[in-house]
Amino acid sequence: MTTTSPTNLWAAALGQLEVSVNKANYDTWLRETVGLRFDGDTFVVGANNDFTTEWLEIRMRKVILQALTRVVGRSIEVRFEVVRADIDDERAALLAAGSGGRGDDADVVPAFLRKAASNLRAPELHPALTFENFVVGEENELAHASAEAVVAAPGRQNPLVIFGGPGLGKTHLLNAIGHAAYADGKHVVYVTAERFGTEFGSAAQHKSFEKFRQRYRGCDVLLVDDVQFFETRPGFQEEFFHTFNDLHAAGKQIVVSCDRPPSQLSGLSDALRSRLMMGMQADVRKPSFATRLAILRAKAAHQALRLPDVALQQIAERCCPTVRELEGYLNRVLAHVPLVGGSTSPEVVASALAVFAASEAPAGDALPSADEVIEAVCARLNTTRADIAGRSRSRDVSYARHLAMHVLRNDAKKSVAEIQRLFGNRDHSTVIGAVDRITAELSTRPETQADLTAVRAALATPSVPAGVPVEAPAVAPRALASRPEAAQG
Ligand code: ADP
Ligand code: MG
Repeated sequence: MTTTSPTNLWAAALGQLEVSVNKANYDTWLRETVGLRFDGDTFVVGANNDFTTEWLEIRMRKVILQALTRVVGRSIEVRFEVVRADIDDERAALLAAGSGGRGDDADVVPAFLRKAASNLRAPELHPALTFENFVVGEENELAHASAEAVVAAPGRQNPLVIFGGPGLGKTHLLNAIGHAAYADGKHVVYVTAERFGTEFGSAAQHKSFEKFRQRYRGCDVLLVDDVQFFETRPGFQEEFFHTFNDLHAAGKQIVVSCDRPPSQLSGLSDALRSRLMMGMQADVRKPSFATRLAILRAKAAHQALRLPDVALQQIAERCCPTVRELEGYLNRVLAHVPLVGGSTSPEVVASALAVFAASEAPAGDALPSADEVIEAVCARLNTTRADIAGRSRSRDVSYARHLAMHVLRNDAKKSVAEIQRLFGNRDHSTVIGAVDRITAELSTRPETQADLTAVRAALATPSVPAGVPVEAPAVAPRALASRPEAAQG
């Protein structure tokens, strides 16, 4: 009976959900879902990517069950499944051609299946991870600018590698590129390295390489998330290498993300590693206070519950290593406020955040020391500490000196006066000029971008294993013990 087909049951449940959840949630997560199967006990809901199924499972399972229970008239189970557009190519093609396939449900065919019928398949992207929703701060501005550049001129900076620690926006930027390129009419494929591997494995099993290769080598923009996964999978790595070469040779854009600079992906073959290093590399770093606050303001603006700016500042003040955790802080406060009668006082915010205290890094973000910065710049540019602290005006030496000043000012947060002292009391204006010169070069000279990125990567990797003392000055303890006050205790 058509009235109890999964399609119709789900349409009825969606009708209820449309009134019971807020519009943004409904549009983002539910509008494009489909009722796939119902065996009398378990209802299977289909969505077009695993972000959505995960979200539905974790955040919306309860309301969905309520709606389905009401529609079916008894309590049942629900499961969420990814419906891949290409699985339904045939059906979608029929629908697009107007023959309707099974005519009764043509009008409830979700947009992503309808799109699949045109030449351009909608990529499997998270709807909320767009450029508009990405907050730019100094820690991610290079990655953001590079991502925009890739959309404006695909194939020019190829590949683009976005790297950095977890929860700092890499997946967000890959998705943003995907949305923008798709809107420009490009055939976009987004995949995690792990899923690329799984699909390759299953293609091998089912002897369906042709289809696999068509999918990955027939696109204009290939976005591969978390390529460090390939380090431990030589077979998948090799297939990715061939895919990469084909696309690159055809001038198609490749964008990958990884948790380290490609130079440090020691589990990759030399050939693949050097391919990844021949385009543009851009890092994402831990957000500063200013960026944390900007992100909180942007995220809070979408919430029904309005938090005052002082509360947002209070949240931003917490040292928070990733944006993902920052979102967790905000959500925690948003959930806590109604429980205490709607107050957003500093005490309420503090008590909501108290649970996070134990997991936080010690107060203050660990900034690199002046020594570490100078060391890293010298290593990168093959020069010496004595040279850059000296008076040489050779082009290479002054470039190294300026780069060191830039990093000292922006990354190590040294004052201009301190930098003047470190470089033999140079003029105030010399330091400012050096910092500005490098800043200007970052948008015009790829070598400067690459040098800065490499220096930052070196600074982000601890060079001294924890617990190993750094040469303590031998005189210190003796000097202390000889002071009478200290000896007496
Ligand atoms: P990664 O892939 O680097 O581990 P994600 O891209 O998944 O991190 O980001 C984690 C979360 O933080 C996501 O919800 C993402 O939208 C959010 N996020 C990260 N950076 C930003 C940013 N600059 N502006 C807004 N949201 C961000
Ligand atoms: Mg990610």
